Amino acid sequence: MSTALWIVAVLVGLTVLAYVNASGRTWGVGIAVALAAAWLFHALPTALTLVLIVAFVVLAIPLSIPSLRRKLISDGVLSLYRKVMPPMSQTEREALEAGTVWWDGELFSGRPDWSRLLSTPMPTLSDEEQRFVDEETEALCAMTSDWEASAVHRDLTATAWQFMKDKGFFGMIIPKEYGGLGFSAYAHSQVITKLSTRSGTAAVTVMVPNSLGPGELLVHYGTDAQKQYYLPRLATGLEIPCFALTNPYAGSDAAAIPDFAYVCYGEHEGKRVLGLSVTWDKRYITLAPVATLLGLAFRVFDPDKLLGDKEELGITCALVPTTHPGVTIGRRHMPLNWVFQNGPTSGKDVFIPMDWVIGGQPMLGKGWRMLMESLAAGRGISLPSSNTGLAMLTARAVGGYARVRTQFKVPVGKFEGVEEPLARMGGNLYMMDATRRLTTAAIDLGERPSVLSAIAKYHITERARQSINDGMDVIAGKGIMMGPSNFLGGAYMQHPVAITVEGANILTRSLIIFGQGAIRCHPYLLKEMNATRDPDREAASIAFDDALFGHVRFTISSLARTLVTGLTGSHFVRVPDNVAPETRRYYQQLTRFSAALAFLSDVSAGTLGGALKRKEKLSARLGDILSLLYLCSATLRRYESEGCQQADAPLMHWAIWDAMFKAQSAFEGVVSNFPNRVIAILARRIVFPLGRPYVVPSDHLGHQVASLLLEPSATRDRLTAGMFIGKDDDDPVGLIERALDAAIAAEPIQAKVRLAIKEGRLSAKHAPGTPFDVLSEHAFEAGVISAEEARALVTHHGLVARVIAVDDFDRDLGASLLLPAIEALRRQTAPMRQRVAA
Ligand SMILES: Cc1cc2nc3c(=O)[nH]c(=O)nc-3n(C[C@H](O)[C@H](O)[C@H](O)COP(=O)(O)OP(=O)(O)OC[C@H]3O[C@@H](n4cnc5c(N)ncnc54)[C@H](O)[C@@H]3O)c2cc1C
Repeated sequence: MSTALWIVAVLVGLTVLAYVNASGRTWGVGIAVALAAAWLFHALPTALTLVLIVAFVVLAIPLSIPSLRRKLISDGVLSLYRKVMPPMSQTEREALEAGTVWWDGELFSGRPDWSRLLSTPMPTLSDEEQRFVDEETEALCAMTSDWEASAVHRDLTATAWQFMKDKGFFGMIIPKEYGGLGFSAYAHSQVITKLSTRSGTAAVTVMVPNSLGPGELLVHYGTDAQKQYYLPRLATGLEIPCFALTNPYAGSDAAAIPDFAYVCYGEHEGKRVLGLSVTWDKRYITLAPVATLLGLAFRVFDPDKLLGDKEELGITCALVPTTHPGVTIGRRHMPLNWVFQNGPTSGKDVFIPMDWVIGGQPMLGKGWRMLMESLAAGRGISLPSSNTGLAMLTARAVGGYARVRTQFKVPVGKFEGVEEPLARMGGNLYMMDATRRLTTAAIDLGERPSVLSAIAKYHITERARQSINDGMDVIAGKGIMMGPSNFLGGAYMQHPVAITVEGANILTRSLIIFGQGAIRCHPYLLKEMNATRDPDREAASIAFDDALFGHVRFTISSLARTLVTGLTGSHFVRVPDNVAPETRRYYQQLTRFSAALAFLSDVSAGTLGGALKRKEKLSARLGDILSLLYLCSATLRRYESEGCQQADAPLMHWAIWDAMFKAQSAFEGVVSNFPNRVIAILARRIVFPLGRPYVVPSDHLGHQVASLLLEPSATRDRLTAGMFIGKDDDDPVGLIERALDAAIAAEPIQAKVRLAIKEGRLSAKHAPGTPFDVLSEHAFEAGVISAEEARALVTHHGLVARVIAVDDFDRDLGASLLLPAIEALRRQTAPMRQRVAA
């Protein structure tokens, strides 16, 4: 055997072992076989072969004897880890450990098992849930209007409030045994999505009692007595809850709340009981101004050691009736002219009995864990649903408007420049809704997917922001002039709220998605970290050794898989047989990116260590890659689960191409910013050995997607399934729907009239731009069109006139009527300035 042949065979063999992540023993056998071949076939000089055999034996013996391996290698690395690992606070650890790992673990593995994704059942509604969406939710949509709420009532109407209470909107997550609706996460999400297509105020008002707050916390952690008393009252709206965590000095860093309580004895209902003396100052609290039940988070101290030796017990959650003496519910905030109820609350040395702590005394100090666990699921429902709703409203109404509104004798949606934003609206919405559904599917399967819910929150709200901005650009002046006929201006103003709450987006992207994702989803990192904290040195040594060598094999495997899939264009990656042929390559390419993410994560952690936490820009980009892999997975799952509708294929293709291009840019951003230049160059060669293969979605594809928004079709209905379309004559979205039908019917008739003018069959005496309703009469008289066609032109013209109309008001916008109110408002803002100045 020639030396060259032997070297090639060895390289191929080692690559295969690395690619399949072979066990340590298989590696040993493989290398032994290679050396035996070199010896038997004289592939290498004898002396060199002998040196290699000796080196192999010297290394293999300690590596294959665990106790020796630990002593010689792992224990040393473990001590180093202990020194370099940044310290982790209890709250940080609880936040990191909250929730479960699901498909995110597969994406981090470098070899996702696509059949697992494809066999995940997609959620459906029960008959009862479907009825609630079709009837009660539809009715609530019909009785609300953001314009009236913000400009007239400064609140939802009393009728809408009562309807929500009576129909159980506040108890969707409360089990039936306590009088709630006991809905699935998916049903809950469908209700919020639909409400958001009509009224942000109604959506938020329903969202809050059903997300992180008293109801959710009681269901999971409440004592029996607390559940029996409060859950039926919450379910029927007898209690309106709010949850107060945010303090003026602790927003994003919520674990640093300075609100506190001392364990002490006090008077309650005429008896001396053990309890807490609580002091708090909270702001931005949704529903606080109308709440009857205040969920409160604060730190508990036991300076007199009434409960034991510990003085600081940690963050605790309690339920306090807002009528309790000492509770102050402040005046309302006004979140961006969006008038859902929101305001501050405070209290000083307010005594509460111990059994007001959620879960009772045993849950003292467990509040942060409770909140993180609840957030892990809840964050995947509320904002992803409401923002998918906003994107549905935008895509459907703006698409229709862009067909109805003509300039230069052409529907504006047909201009290439306008097609671009329309394509983004369609493609993004397809992916957003897919992500919302897959995330709720996971929650309904019993997962509490902390990383995936953060991904869904961040990426769906960001894409909704993009859609609304795009929509505003397309409808231009129509979106600017506020009034009841503006269907998008309210969403535009409200949207920053979604960016800020439940983990402000910059923080979520830079710190949480990859920070938590890498530790939770990596197959070995958390095991290594746990070992460094284990006080039992023997157990720590065994666990660390196991994780360390697994980690080394995993990194080598990720490197091999990244390089091989890069060199082969991932053509040989195995994909389940049952996927649609048009999606097959996507699965292969996503597997390639998954391997590259695993490889780069290890390189980043290995070269930067604890400093990676502060390198937020790198961490954010790695998080983007993980997120985009998840968004693509959801998109492919949606496509398969809807029966691979060929008519919907452009939406799926656009979404995947756009995401793959963005993921590629994120990879580039990571490797080109590695502090170590040598590693940066090597990493780029490994991740993109043949250059960067992905480009933005083609113009042709963008044209196909945009066209789908411009006319009624089953695809357009599937894309916006579940949204509210008002049936009232003056509902702005319903009006666009009718005008769209009329426009499509009118277009061929208009073409006939234009042709007749061009050919001289119809007098061109009218100025250019004469409306078709005027021309229709002449065209009918000249026999160019039928009476029915003439009527269609008139109908169309009337509807278009109403769609493009904007609201107008008195010259002073009603200020003269409002002057006393404005003066009163000015006086009302004075106390805040005085408070701060004092
Ligand atoms: C309308 C509305 C409703 C709300 N409802 C409630 C409620 O019901 N209950 C409740 O308790 N709270 C509520 N909040 C509070 C909300 O959760 C906080 O606003 C949020 O946590 C952000 O805090 P902050 O506004 O003080 O921003 P800050 O914490 O001051 O953050 C400022 C900016 O810095 C960024 N940032 C902060 N730390 C980092 C970091 N480490 N890395 C990168 N970027 C970082 C943030 O992303 C943000 O962009 C509500 C807020 C609003 C606006």
